[in-house]
Amino acid sequence: MDLKSFIRDIPDFPQKGVIFRDITPLIKNPEAFKYAVDTIVEEVKKFDFDLVVCPEARGFIIGAPIAYLLGKGFVPVRKPGKLPYKTVSDTYELEYGKAELHIHEDAIQPGQKVLIVDDVLATGGTALALKRLVEKVGGEVVASAFLIELTYLNPRRLLNNLPIIAPIKY
Ligand code: AMP
Repeated sequence: MDLKSFIRDIPDFPQKGVIFRDITPLIKNPEAFKYAVDTIVEEVKKFDFDLVVCPEARGFIIGAPIAYLLGKGFVPVRKPGKLPYKTVSDTYELEYGKAELHIHEDAIQPGQKVLIVDDVLATGGTALALKRLVEKVGGEVVASAFLIELTYLNPRRLLNNLPIIAPIKY
């Protein structure tokens, strides 16, 4: 299936110069959504991990079905003021602007292995912040998975040799 044909490009959103890769046409199509999740699952099941860690909000859409299908736990990473218990945070640069993410301080047991999942890997800043958050609370990131990788932003430079799964590439 040509998954890329379900992605809608929105030029100059949310700011001039950014081509926003809109996944909503893909996730509303039952066959495309299933094919995309199943394709990622086939790749990530080669890795040994206990938890799927995802940032809100679009990360949840991709990460939750992967965790469910593979029988793993799901850990949400959220914007400030959303998680109810004590949190650990990290601030980082986005393709457009700055952001701060939080994780519950007890979300991960020492030594637990983690798969990071998000919808789009752009500069890699979010993925790197997720990795730092996981490490701050005692976990180990073994791999990362995305629906889309924007290779022209060179995100792999930030992530060193972390395995990256992404069925759709630009
Ligand atoms: P980055 O931290 O630069 O890798 O950006 C990744 C995060 O920002 C993901 O959570 C994406 O949802 C969002 N994002 C960044 N750039 C884009 C883009 N061009 N199209 C869609 N989402 C994007």
